[in-house]
Amino acid sequence: MSHTLTLSSLKTAIPRIGYGTGTKWYSGDNSKPIDKNLVQAIHVALSVGYRHLDAAEMYGTDTSIGEAIRTQSIPRNKLFITSKVYRNIENIEQACLDSLSRLDIDYLDLWLIHSPYFDRNKISLEQAWKQMEKLFENGKVKAIGVSNFQKNHLEELLALKPKIKPAVNQIELHPYVYEASREVIEYCKSNEIAIESYSPLGSLIYKPGGPVDEVVEKLAKKYNRSPAQILLKWNLKKGDIAVTTSSKQERLEDFLNVLDENFQLNNEDIKAIDDAGAKLHFRQYWTKEIDGN
Ligand code: NDP
Repeated sequence: MSHTLTLSSLKTAIPRIGYGTGTKWYSGDNSKPIDKNLVQAIHVALSVGYRHLDAAEMYGTDTSIGEAIRTQSIPRNKLFITSKVYRNIENIEQACLDSLSRLDIDYLDLWLIHSPYFDRNKISLEQAWKQMEKLFENGKVKAIGVSNFQKNHLEELLALKPKIKPAVNQIELHPYVYEASREVIEYCKSNEIAIESYSPLGSLIYKPGGPVDEVVEKLAKKYNRSPAQILLKWNLKKGDIAVTTSSKQERLEDFLNVLDENFQLNNEDIKAIDDAGAKLHFRQYWTKEIDGN
């Protein structure tokens, strides 16, 4: 499997495995001091081969990412940096400029609407997307997309006949949420919107002891791979890009080795994971908004 995915419409190569700075690194406050542990973790990630960093206005990690980028030697054009807007959705252009300033960079590779569940009384989806397009046209962002959009939200967006279609939809994707995500995944595939998964290890870390574990452990033994590698491989069969994270170098290396062409899961393996995942529905993020409970 190629280490990058080239988006058909935009010719932007996205590294298949991204390094996330939300979840375990989340502070939620952009005025907090630099997190030295995160700076160090990003340096480790870059040193073992990660080139794709996932940020968001909401995470409060921008200044730490900025510090990490400033204090290493990989040129900016070899890095792929994503960020997302949600809190300042009414003024997306300003939110982007603020993110760039905190990150201390002059463009983003990918800029996403973090979630479709923003207050539509404040700004419509059409107005929001027009601001996204403007940033793309001004060159502040190289690609635009969405996150946590379900099929109905994408239909709503595409019905607006946007000048620029969303390049990616970043969604939670692991075996326990796959069944509920089939519809949106199929819709994205048929509209050339890349699927970028977050929480790819969800079954292992957020719902240990569930029905998927046994199947994943068996496959890990069969292929002499770690359970995380089995889950990431499954993930990249279902979607296009996966965003994970870790504070540990061994795990980061382990995750990247999933791209090794010699490691494959066959259809039977994939189906065994699908079937085990379908026994339990579990979503870790945006649960209330998406599932309504
Ligand atoms: P993962 O499912 O990949 O989980 C990563 C976590 O698992 C890390 O905290 C890591 O901790 C731990 N871990 C890794 N391997 C193991 C193991 N073998 N046993 C136990 N724990 C392990 O992804 P996340 O849910 O953390 O999300 C990744 C990124 O996705 C976020 O940082 C963020 O950038 C993005 N995201 C986007 C969302 C959105 O709404 N758009 C929502 C949520 C996430 P350790 O340091 O111990 O290895």
